[in-house]
Amino acid sequence: MARNLEPSCKQCRREMTPLMLKGQRCLTDKCAIKRKKNTPGPPKKRRTKSSEYGIQLREKQKIKNSYGLFERQFRRVFEEASRMRGVTGDNMLSLLERRLDNVIYRTGFASSRKQARQFINHRHVLVNSNIVDIASYRVNENSIIQIRDSFKNNVMLDDSIKLSKAISLIPEWVEVDFENKITKILRLPARSDVEDIYKERLVVELYSK
Ligand code: SF4
Repeated sequence: MARNLEPSCKQCRREMTPLMLKGQRCLTDKCAIKRKKNTPGPPKKRRTKSSEYGIQLREKQKIKNSYGLFERQFRRVFEEASRMRGVTGDNMLSLLERRLDNVIYRTGFASSRKQARQFINHRHVLVNSNIVDIASYRVNENSIIQIRDSFKNNVMLDDSIKLSKAISLIPEWVEVDFENKITKILRLPARSDVEDIYKERLVVELYSK
């Protein structure tokens, strides 16, 4: 299985945006965005203005890396979003939010999407009482997501829950029962449920060329 081997903090520094790829570390002063104020690579002698294409490309990379997708997967999501009714950018973010790894991360059962993917690949997650080991699985309204009994007392899981309770990350479109480690999808996520750090319009412009 292909993996993105580029260091997580480097991905954030390239976009100069905290993409929260490393879980707990992202909330501490060790965060590379807080420590280093420049983009990776040798210092630039002269600040050059990015082209329109360059700005659009960076925005696409930011969203793609944030959700941990490869180009082909991301493009597929975009094409599906463009076939749906409504605003393509909003549809795209909604489809990305509905990925199972994102739901596990958003609901606080994993401290990052990468960790969520690991839990799913290791078959620790049930959707509607069936084991699902596909991180890109898309949840629906009224889906019930559970952590398997054999994994409920795991230390990493407990740490993530403590962290998410402390920073109250839980979105409004889900209902979480931390005691029993169950999540119910109340409704499908809308654009307003996603952070404002993304300018999805630029991705639509880029792919529409
Ligand atoms: Fe990004 Fe987290 Fe690294 Fe900070 S600590 S640069 S938010 S991955």
